[in-house]
Amino acid sequence: MIKHITVIGSGVMGRGIAYVAAVGGYKTSLVDISEKALENAQTEINAIFAKGVQRNKLTEEEASAGMERMSYSSNLQAIVSNTDMVIEAVPENLEIKKNIFETIDQHAPEHCYFATNTSTMSPTEIASFTDRPGKVIAMHFFNPVHKMPLVEIIKGLDTAEETVKLANEVAAKMGKETVTVNEFPGFVTSRISALVGNEAFYMLQEGVGSPEEIDKAIKLGLNYPMGPFELGDLVGLDTRLNNLKYLHETLGEKYRPCPLLVKYVKAGRFGRKSGMGVYDYTDGEKGGKNHA
Ligand code: NAD
Repeated sequence: MIKHITVIGSGVMGRGIAYVAAVGGYKTSLVDISEKALENAQTEINAIFAKGVQRNKLTEEEASAGMERMSYSSNLQAIVSNTDMVIEAVPENLEIKKNIFETIDQHAPEHCYFATNTSTMSPTEIASFTDRPGKVIAMHFFNPVHKMPLVEIIKGLDTAEETVKLANEVAAKMGKETVTVNEFPGFVTSRISALVGNEAFYMLQEGVGSPEEIDKAIKLGLNYPMGPFELGDLVGLDTRLNNLKYLHETLGEKYRPCPLLVKYVKAGRFGRKSGMGVYDYTDGEKGGKNHA
C-alpha cells in the first residue's frame, strides 16, 4: 500500500508530479540538490493549488490539505529511508540517474517501488543499477503534468506484474489515464514527438516557412493542439536534442538531430525556461518575435 511518495528532482516535471501526487492523497516529498530549485518549485506548486481553487477544480479545503501533504527537502537519504515509492525526475543523463538509483536502492526500505520519468532511457538499464529490478518501472508523465491526461507506463525486462499494476493504480489516483507498453527506445510518445519536432527544424533550416507558418499548418491542417516549435520550446530544446541523440544512437539515421536545433542549443536557446527558443519569451508570454 503506497502512502508516501518521494519525487526526486524539482524541475519542470518533478514539481508537476509532486503536485498530482499530493492532490491524489499521497504524503509527498519533493527532493532536489538545489535549494533554489526547491524554493521555485514550492512557489509554483502553491500557485497551481491557488489556480485550481480559482477554477473550481479543487475546493479550498482540498487545496490546503494537498499543500499540507507536501514537503520539500535536499536530504535524499533521510527522506527515502521512509518512503513507499520513489518517482525520479532528474535530468536525462544516465550518470546522474545511475547515481540516484544506486543511492535510493541503498537507503529505501525493501518494499519501496522505484519509477523513472525518463523520456527515452531504458528502464531495464536503470533497474540494473538496483538490486530490485522487479520493482522498477518507467512512468512517463507529460508537461505540464497537472494538465496532461496521460501517463505512459513502460515495463522493463524484469519489471514484475505487481509493479505494473501498482504504477497504474498510482497514476489513476493522480487523476491520469494510462497506457502500458513494452520497452523499446523512445517508447511510443517520445519517438513520434522527437521525429516530428526534428522534421520541423529541418523545414525551418530549408526555408520552407517561418516557425509561425509551420506551427499553424500542423495545428490547423493536422489537428495537433500545439505546433512542433511551440511544443519544442515548452519541452526544452536541450531536452529535445538529448532525446534525439539517444534515439539516433539506438534507432539509427532517421533520428539524426537537425544542425539548426544543435545550433540553437549551443546558443543557449533552450525554449521557455531560458526565455528564448524558436520563439522569444523575454516579454513574458510568447512575444510574437522569432529568431529563425
Ligand atoms: P529539469 O532540468 O527541469 O529538472 C531537473 C531537476 O533535477 C533540477 O531541479 C535539478 O536541480 C535536479 N537534480 C539534478 N541532479 C540531481 C540530483 N543528483 N539529486 C536531486 N535532484 C537533482 O528537468 P525536467 O525537464 O524536469 O526533466 C526531468 C526528467 O523528466 C528527464 O528524465 C526528462 O527526460 C523527463 N521528461 C521531461 C519532459 C519535459 O517536457 N521537460 C517530459 C517528460 C519527461
